[in-house]
Amino acid sequence: MPDNIKTPPESMHFTLQEITAGVFAAISKAESGAMGNAGIIDLGERVIIFDTFETPTAAEDLRIASEYLTGKPATWVVNSHSHSDHWFGNQVFLQGSIVISSQTAAKLMNEYIGEVEEEKSDPSELVEFLQDQINQLETETDQNIRRVLKSSIARWESYLKSLPNLKLRLPEQLFNKKIVFHGSERCVELIDMGTVHSPGDCILTIPSEDLAFIGDIGFFHQLPFMADCDPQKWVSTLSELKNSNFVVFIPGHGPVGNVKDLETLEEYILILRKLVTDAISSGESVEYVLSNQLPEPFRTWSNGSPRMEVNTKAMFEYLTNTED
Ligand SMILES: [Zn+2]
Repeated sequence: MPDNIKTPPESMHFTLQEITAGVFAAISKAESGAMGNAGIIDLGERVIIFDTFETPTAAEDLRIASEYLTGKPATWVVNSHSHSDHWFGNQVFLQGSIVISSQTAAKLMNEYIGEVEEEKSDPSELVEFLQDQINQLETETDQNIRRVLKSSIARWESYLKSLPNLKLRLPEQLFNKKIVFHGSERCVELIDMGTVHSPGDCILTIPSEDLAFIGDIGFFHQLPFMADCDPQKWVSTLSELKNSNFVVFIPGHGPVGNVKDLETLEEYILILRKLVTDAISSGESVEYVLSNQLPEPFRTWSNGSPRMEVNTKAMFEYLTNTED
């Protein structure tokens, strides 16, 4: 980091990585209230925050880090998509800042309002779910399952702790297609990619520095979450990004990566599609697909994680609905 910039206090929620002068990735820690990754982009006169984690506590550390690193408050707060771990921290940013998302994502974010109000007035279901996981951890001996459980327990503990003061702040500015932000240090493009990982996914690109914050279109070193995706569009978007001029990709989950990580993710989606296509044509079930051994690294990544089941069901639904 440049000498004139103070190092922000260490956060228990994320690790900061300077990608290039004035552009930082905040990579979430495994057992924290962050869940998703975030970004800090200094345009020169103004600052953009890309995603705000799942809890205001984690987002508060991001706000502090951003002000340390750039010397100014954020002007724009971008939410890459509607999933809670990318925008539930919005409230910590100054009221004068503007929260931006795609029009499609904003519509879906709106649907969380009632859900969160219900959880606030009666969190017993969440408390019970958390207690089940804590009980399970006490007797679990498989290291992979323990790792997944610990991360989930930390997530729900943080969420429950933040719930009484959680005030969902919805986007104030919506866009379709693309917005360009011009600054003296760099220009940034915000692009609505359509339904890829989820409806209304947007990515933030910095063409002059060959890098892109791709939100949850990127899951690196772990299985993706596919419940709301369009697998076909995801594969074609990954190809598009692979063939672009970008060389550094900051994913929504996992470490900063490159084209190789996009390829691995694409490979997983294609393997899953093949397994499910074969299962459908021979009249087999979700359980049949789950009994197949995946090649590495996917076998290790799926160990102890509920994602393979979620993704298989989503792929079944997608292929059954698009068959004819
Ligand atoms: Zn997501």
